[in-house]
Amino acid sequence: MGMFVKLGGAVNVLGGREEFRFQTTAEALDAMPENATLEGEIFVSGALMNTGQTLRVEGTVRVLRSFVCDRCLGQFSSPQEYSFSEDLARASDGETPIDGMLGVGEDAVDVAPLVRDTILTAQPLRNLCRADCRGLCSRCGADLNQGDCGCDRRSIDPRLADLQKLLTTEDG
Ligand SMILES: [Zn+2]
Ligand SMILES: [Zn+2]
Repeated sequence: MGMFVKLGGAVNVLGGREEFRFQTTAEALDAMPENATLEGEIFVSGALMNTGQTLRVEGTVRVLRSFVCDRCLGQFSSPQEYSFSEDLARASDGETPIDGMLGVGEDAVDVAPLVRDTILTAQPLRNLCRADCRGLCSRCGADLNQGDCGCDRRSIDPRLADLQKLLTTEDG
């Protein structure tokens, strides 16, 4: 899906700006991260600005990100805000516009690819419910964020360790 912003009169004037606002979904935008789900509506707002040399596209994307924590395996949702800013060069007369360039006579800019890239590159490599998530006890599986379970995790009985390795292999 495209998100076309018309180049109104304002952006033809130096310093002029044209605001935009879109509502979409991860599916419609084809912006689906591998390790998370973006729930419901995605809100995009921003403005096109004529800076003289370029046409600057600036704005923010707001999503509700749901994920499973890599350490405690809990399910979490948190609102995220990502910002973007890109300068589109303007092609001069007779020049063939390349990617990220605005052709002569073009009367709209599609901000969808920029929004899609912004969302995908902003995704963290690791999913953590919080930076200091304590994860699960390697012995009893208790969520250590809820308090200590009392297990001694420093010395694992070698026979148990083997069994645990086997169980982990079968699980995964
Ligand atoms: Zn966690
Ligand atoms: Zn335990």
